Amino acid sequence: MTRRPQSSLLNADLHCHSFVSDGTLAPEALAARAKAKGVELWALTDHDEVGGQQRAREAAAALGLPWVSGVEVSVTFAGVTVHIVGLGFDEDDAALVAGLAATRGGRDERAREMARSLAQAGIEGGFEGALKYVSNPQLISRTHFARFLVDSGVCADTHAVFRKYLVEGRPGYVPHNWASLGDAVRWITNAGGVAVIAHPGRYRFTPNEEFALFSEFKAHGGQGVEVVTGSHQRSDYAKYAAAAREFGLLASRGSDFHAPGESATDLGELPSLDAQLSPVWELLERRIRQP
Ligand code: AMP
Ligand code: MN
Ligand code: MN
Ligand code: MN
Repeated sequence: MTRRPQSSLLNADLHCHSFVSDGTLAPEALAARAKAKGVELWALTDHDEVGGQQRAREAAAALGLPWVSGVEVSVTFAGVTVHIVGLGFDEDDAALVAGLAATRGGRDERAREMARSLAQAGIEGGFEGALKYVSNPQLISRTHFARFLVDSGVCADTHAVFRKYLVEGRPGYVPHNWASLGDAVRWITNAGGVAVIAHPGRYRFTPNEEFALFSEFKAHGGQGVEVVTGSHQRSDYAKYAAAAREFGLLASRGSDFHAPGESATDLGELPSLDAQLSPVWELLERRIRQP
């Protein structure tokens, strides 16, 4: 028997990436993988880009997989990069599409600067190297540099790359100004969607800064927070379940899957949300495309 979408126990995977951003699979391959892994509600959430949504929707429909639109917006908050997931919005909304295009806009120049910084550390050809891994020319990301550094033998895996390079204080790191928190939340909610704080356990905020993020996010109209995600430690699950209750936010769940053999968590295989939590899909019900 299929569970009702209201259930916290639904195998929802509302966070993953295709080659339209920094994943390696096509939207169709992700849909098939989600279906094969028993996912009961799926969203593709490429970084700063909705170019894969139509393919995701059509593939999900063909597979009989309930689908909802998704995106992961890069935001700068208190000088730190924060990600805001949008779910269930109108993918053709003009302000959202324009806002995402503006957010993507600085990536090319940033990547060239990253390559210059890596060159100073003795690693040449970073820009052209990373570009070989890019499918969407508007979306060159640190992940593409990481894959280049692994395949050229500089590091053993992408996690080692992010320990040695591309993060603050290391060669290849270039500070960047993404969208504002208020703009990202408004683009999503004005397009009829629900805004969700992605993987809050990953940001290195003080308790005061984290309180500010949650409070301001709510004040702008944000409604959800990821609790169970492949980008969290297990100890984060209880911490952000409590934060969801404290701030009156709906809980979300998603693997943050990027690539076979690279992502630790595959689609649909995380623990369920705590049965006491209100899941974000309660609010998405009318926006879900049932096949
Ligand atoms: P960008 O949007 O270009 O800054 O790239 C951010 C992406 O880099 C994230 O979405 C992750 O896919 C990847 N990333 C960031 N930190 C790490 C890490 N420590 N290990 C593996 N991947 C990471
Ligand atoms: Mn990514
Ligand atoms: Mn993220
Ligand atoms: Mn992600």
